[in-house]
Amino acid sequence: MHVIDAHSHLYPRSYLELLKTRTEIPRIGDHDGGEHFVIFRGEEAIPGGGRRLDESFWDVTAKVAYMDRVGIDQTIVSLGNPWLDPFDGPESADWARRLNAELASLEAETDGRVVALGVLPTDRVESAVEVAREVAATQTLYGVIGSCRVCGLELDDERLTPLWEELESSELPLFVHPHHGVALDELAGYGNSLPLALGFPFETTIAVTKLVFSGVLQRFPKLRIMVAHGGGTLPFLAARLDVTWRSDPEAQVKLDSAPSDQLSSLYLDAVLYHPRALHAAAELVGPRKMLFGTDHPFFNADPRTTLDAVEAEFADGARIHVLGGTALSLFGLNHA
Ligand code: URA
Ligand code: ZN
Repeated sequence: MHVIDAHSHLYPRSYLELLKTRTEIPRIGDHDGGEHFVIFRGEEAIPGGGRRLDESFWDVTAKVAYMDRVGIDQTIVSLGNPWLDPFDGPESADWARRLNAELASLEAETDGRVVALGVLPTDRVESAVEVAREVAATQTLYGVIGSCRVCGLELDDERLTPLWEELESSELPLFVHPHHGVALDELAGYGNSLPLALGFPFETTIAVTKLVFSGVLQRFPKLRIMVAHGGGTLPFLAARLDVTWRSDPEAQVKLDSAPSDQLSSLYLDAVLYHPRALHAAAELVGPRKMLFGTDHPFFNADPRTTLDAVEAEFADGARIHVLGGTALSLFGLNHA
């Protein structure tokens, strides 16, 4: 079986150096003899807080070694949070182009084992559209990753319409991934565990729900959107969204069919760690729209838990799609 990791991050050194110029979160702290990734206020409050960075964050050779260790044939890497979100000045587009050129070179460097998504600038929607067009024209970039806001705008903001038009016409997949977390005050007091375990998926849930309720997915039915961490809590809450929408005439002004109709058009990664969560995701979109992923190098990327869960949940035919078939077709990849 061809196993493709569709959710895996790589932070080029040039990007980490850029992030090191920041003094506020998200930033990189240098202490205890190493670099630390500091993204939450809670991490900043503790001296020596943050997550230790090592070469698995930036070194493509380390990525391939990890793939060999766990039996992954091909990986689609993307820059991880915070992308260019904190760099929204006029330099943003130059950085996006520079990073995209680096990411595009990975395929040749690794004989096709590692391929990449591009990143968008955050200064203006017009420049995000231009860069998306360039990425679509780049043979060795297969989509773009973005946060739950694009150019600082929530995904239901009408000013993003030109971007949806561009992504739909070029058929360039967009990977929607959380970064800031939500309800951080309520989730404080337990390290970064609750912000990552709950703040991240709820951030995704809210962003994608707004994409649906604003009617964007209905107006642009050919958008190819992959959502991180199995769509946050959407597989579990989709029916509840239908119920609230059905009883609320105001919500029906912007969306004239049940939210779950639109949700089922999404692609969801399988970074869910348990068969019961995979089951809910598969009930919503089907295994042909699910993609295995690890979130490497975060959480020491324990792929065994997800691989075991995929094995337990999906019979052979469906498993082929989840482990690699969906990624091949969504991103138009060739076998490595
Ligand atoms: N933590 C992060 O900051 N990003 C991820 O993608 C996963 C965990
Ligand atoms: Zn991730």
